Amino acid sequence: MVSQAQDSALYSTYARSELSFERGEGARLYTADNQEYLDFAGGVAVSSVGHGHPHIVSALKEQADKVWHVSNIYKIPGQEKLAQRFADVTFADKVFFANSGAEAMECAIKTARRYHFVNGAPERTRILTFEGAFHGRTLATLAAGGQEKYLEGFGPKAGGFDQVPFGDHEAMKAAITDETAAILIEPIQGEGGVNVVPHQCLRGLRELCDEHGILLVMDEVQTGVGRTGKLFAHEWAGITPDIMAIAKGIGAGFPIGACLATEKAASGMTAGTHGSTFGGNPLGMAVSNAVLDVVLAPGFLEEVQQKGLRIKQRLAELADTYPDQIESIRGEGLMLGLQLKADAFPNGVGPMVEAARKHHLLTVGAGNNVVRFLPPLTITLDEANAAIDRMDAAFADLKPAN
Ligand SMILES: *Cc1c(COP(=O)(O)O)cnc(C)c1O
Repeated sequence: MVSQAQDSALYSTYARSELSFERGEGARLYTADNQEYLDFAGGVAVSSVGHGHPHIVSALKEQADKVWHVSNIYKIPGQEKLAQRFADVTFADKVFFANSGAEAMECAIKTARRYHFVNGAPERTRILTFEGAFHGRTLATLAAGGQEKYLEGFGPKAGGFDQVPFGDHEAMKAAITDETAAILIEPIQGEGGVNVVPHQCLRGLRELCDEHGILLVMDEVQTGVGRTGKLFAHEWAGITPDIMAIAKGIGAGFPIGACLATEKAASGMTAGTHGSTFGGNPLGMAVSNAVLDVVLAPGFLEEVQQKGLRIKQRLAELADTYPDQIESIRGEGLMLGLQLKADAFPNGVGPMVEAARKHHLLTVGAGNNVVRFLPPLTITLDEANAAIDRMDAAFADLKPAN
């Protein structure tokens, strides 16, 4: 029974907007009364190929007519195919399919610990992460992120995770002990505020891991599948991880996560060590294979890079127009952020996200006073320009009269 004090039977965990959408087409969402919005939130980096992409829709429909779910008791051809495609285009040899980013991360954490367990170092269980990280909302991934605001009230923090200040290589070096199993990092922190880890730093972490015989684990749940203009963001630094979690964009709206690993790193994950009832079901695999068709098409990623650069230029112009409001522009490809000046926006990014919404532009707030842009990778330059014009109008609305 819903009490009269509330108007919904849902958990109150989300501070939702009043907006709701009935349908989507490419980079646009429409309300029931046909109001059009430009979707530069992309369902938080999920709608990688836009809404209603014909190739993805037909792949889903075709599979829906055949079989939806059989469980991992049986071979699933779509899984074999998708895993092999990842093996062909990434560092990975082995893939496990899950249903979300947090689950992909759980598999990554288990894989890293189990690697040391079967290789004669069972004491190596601790994982080092950077402050400001976000790895999901399960008990272990919350501990990995280490953010007090998310951990409060949920009982003992899962053990085995230590944080060092963002980008502090010396602190990371000093934190490694003979109990360290892995370093876990987002190549660009998403929720933390589009904080780009310098390529030099990623290369340094790779060296540090090699030196100490520990594993480098990438959380590319948000940065992966073309978001930054490379298939995976670590490619920009010219290094490879041992283990990587992905999700968001690979499902394009279908809940899918995956953990990718080298043969060596995955050596402990033998029969019975991990599992998922839904993970990698035929429907999801049909969708993800279709997403890869689009993202791996010749020239697609180069276009993402070019569109990202163009938007960055326009954001720089915006920063020139509003020097008292905008602190910095950050990000890579189509994972971009506009950092607002704290004194101009003492209440955080909420009012700016709201102002943009009034101009029918959807964005997402992030840490560090950052407004995030995560549009479909398929946006046109016209749509990108329209989005910046709307952002400009939103800034004009909030500019103090003088
Ligand atoms: C969104 C996100 C997660 C969690 O993904 P869910 O699908 O919400 O569980 C983990 N890591 C990063 C970097 C993310 O952006």
